[in-house]
Amino acid sequence: MTEQNPQAASRQTAYILIGVLLGAVVGVLINLFKAQMPWLDTVLVGVVFKLLGDIFRNGLMLMVVPLVFFSLMGGVASLRNIGELGRVGGKTVALYMVTTVISVSIALSLALWIEPGVGVENTMAPMALPSPPPPLLDQLINMVPTNPVQAMATMNMLQIIVFAVLMGVAILMAGEPGKRVASMVNDINEVVLQLVTIIMMFAPIGVFALLAKAIAELGFEQIGKLIVYFVLVLTALSIQLLVVFPILLRTVGGVDPRPWLRKMREVWMYAFSTSSSNATLPVTMRVAEQRMGVHNQVAAFSIPLGATVNMNGTAMMQGIACVFIAQLYGIDLTLVQLITVVGMATIAAVGTAGVPSAGIVMLASVLTQVGLPLEGIALVLAVDRLLDMARTVVNVSGDAAVSLIVARSEGELDMEVYRSP
Ligand code: ASP
Repeated sequence: MTEQNPQAASRQTAYILIGVLLGAVVGVLINLFKAQMPWLDTVLVGVVFKLLGDIFRNGLMLMVVPLVFFSLMGGVASLRNIGELGRVGGKTVALYMVTTVISVSIALSLALWIEPGVGVENTMAPMALPSPPPPLLDQLINMVPTNPVQAMATMNMLQIIVFAVLMGVAILMAGEPGKRVASMVNDINEVVLQLVTIIMMFAPIGVFALLAKAIAELGFEQIGKLIVYFVLVLTALSIQLLVVFPILLRTVGGVDPRPWLRKMREVWMYAFSTSSSNATLPVTMRVAEQRMGVHNQVAAFSIPLGATVNMNGTAMMQGIACVFIAQLYGIDLTLVQLITVVGMATIAAVGTAGVPSAGIVMLASVLTQVGLPLEGIALVLAVDRLLDMARTVVNVSGDAAVSLIVARSEGELDMEVYRSP
């Protein structure tokens, strides 16, 4: 794999951090002055920042399909045997489920204790019901694509993962021709990684523009009205990020969590500014493999899968939002309803796509299952932009943490790379 010069990498990270900070400051300033100077909003935010930010985000998204497909196919093709794939897959999925259930449980406990919805004025107008998500059975059947090109064209990540794994297995089983294809796939993978490096050269400007735009468009007054809910979601997210993941890394993974926390910062900046696990995926994979020492066989499988199904931060928001909306309407949640929230938020988080605001859309299905009024969404939606950025940080961190734990248990973690500064 192409190594990045460590000095250049840390300079790059510093530039991105400057982009993040400047973006936040400029965003707040525009938010304060846009009433007096409307051109700030129309020209600067609506044209300049939108142009720069969206081009950068498109560039990131552009790499997702080739990166996941070739990297995963190459990763599977380089496994020693198929049993290893089953073990890595089993451990990864189990850990994703466990971390999601932990996250919803923490979120619910906090929400029941703090009661964010008590005393908030409820002024919601009735809302039309969004269409329900397809039944679970159909979702399972649809994991196997009938047309791989269509799967890639529509960026259906689960279908792409299934196809790449099957192709990898076929390469493993195909003898000499398989070896030739595997070597070509690995070469293509190197080229795609180079493409990642090219796009990331624009990251400082890209994150600046994305953040400045997002913050310029935030409704600060609305956050004020829902401040308890807002702070509660942020607190829950921080607990998952700074307490739960490090404890899991230490106890289940048997590794010191400090290098993980240090090296994740770069990924956090991308997640925060793009609000998208998918757009962050190329960076998460690169950091996990090159800076944390997770071997490609594990990272190429667990991280794309995680970006698609593992959304701890989203599950937390959904759990807290359910309790908040119930309290808003004076509904006492029964124990059965609370357990339903845990189950439904877990499933909804799996079904949430790794793109901006997907989690709030899936909240509708959780509310319907639990029997809560859908109108409540309109209220939390008003403050969801910033929370989306924060929960995406937690979502991608869960993917990297699980990948690290699985790699360690498989002897696929290079401890020297992991510990290196
Ligand atoms: N934006 C989140 C993500 O991509 C999904 C969500 O809206 O919760 O991870």
